Amino acid sequence: MSAPLADDALAPLAQASPLLALFDIDGTLAPLAPRPELAEVPDATRRALADLAARPGVRVGLVTGRAAHDGARMVPAAGLWVIGNHGVETWDADGTRRVAEALVAAAAAVAREAAALASPVAAVPGALLEDKRWGLSVHTRLAPDDAVPALADAVRDVAAREGLRVHDGKRILELRPDAELDKGTAVLALAARLGALAPAGAVLFAGDDRTDEDAFRRLRAAGARAVTIRVGEADVPTEADWHVASPVEVAALIGRLVELRGPVAERAER
Ligand SMILES: [Mg+2]
Repeated sequence: MSAPLADDALAPLAQASPLLALFDIDGTLAPLAPRPELAEVPDATRRALADLAARPGVRVGLVTGRAAHDGARMVPAAGLWVIGNHGVETWDADGTRRVAEALVAAAAAVAREAAALASPVAAVPGALLEDKRWGLSVHTRLAPDDAVPALADAVRDVAAREGLRVHDGKRILELRPDAELDKGTAVLALAARLGALAPAGAVLFAGDDRTDEDAFRRLRAAGARAVTIRVGEADVPTEADWHVASPVEVAALIGRLVELRGPVAERAER
């Protein structure tokens, strides 16, 4: 469990350079909504994020399970980084779009595997190969029962050769990259790239859910100078240092960070 956010909890972030301030969206910046498309980041929170991003030495990012473009839509401020799809994709503040390196390598393996499985799958009437770029599905719902075991063996052989994982479903075999990829791996990769893991740097991460725990945990394990904040109920087990109750309190802490970081830099200094 974490402690209620103390008045001086953000003090270590006042001088850090760079300070990488990262926020989950749903339940953290935006109040939870009955349906994802109804969730909104309040205007005041958007403005506070833009103000924070304008401070010298500060980089601001969104870290979401939504696709990156959806995250960027919800907070359309310039100069933000966006980590989407739980760490699969990262959009840089300058517009550069990146896919996790582990997946770039895996995509080549998936493509080779799709080619290798094309004829074994085509040989089984009713079987279907679906290429999803970051993975493959072999559907066998319409295939004759007695043909499935041999096809499954062929799939496993190819997967083993390419180092992909096979997940057995209901009349479906899912092949996925053997990549460890989550919000935490993406946060660490971004922090390293921006220099926030260096002695002068620091990271702030706020999130409200189980998948945010990966970021809390990995920042701690990496020995990063980090302030981690869990949003929501106070009594859930968490790896975060601190706790705030709601997106309203997150907006307030962004405001405090803006004050801590002082006046906006001259354009030339940024
Ligand atoms: Mg969330």
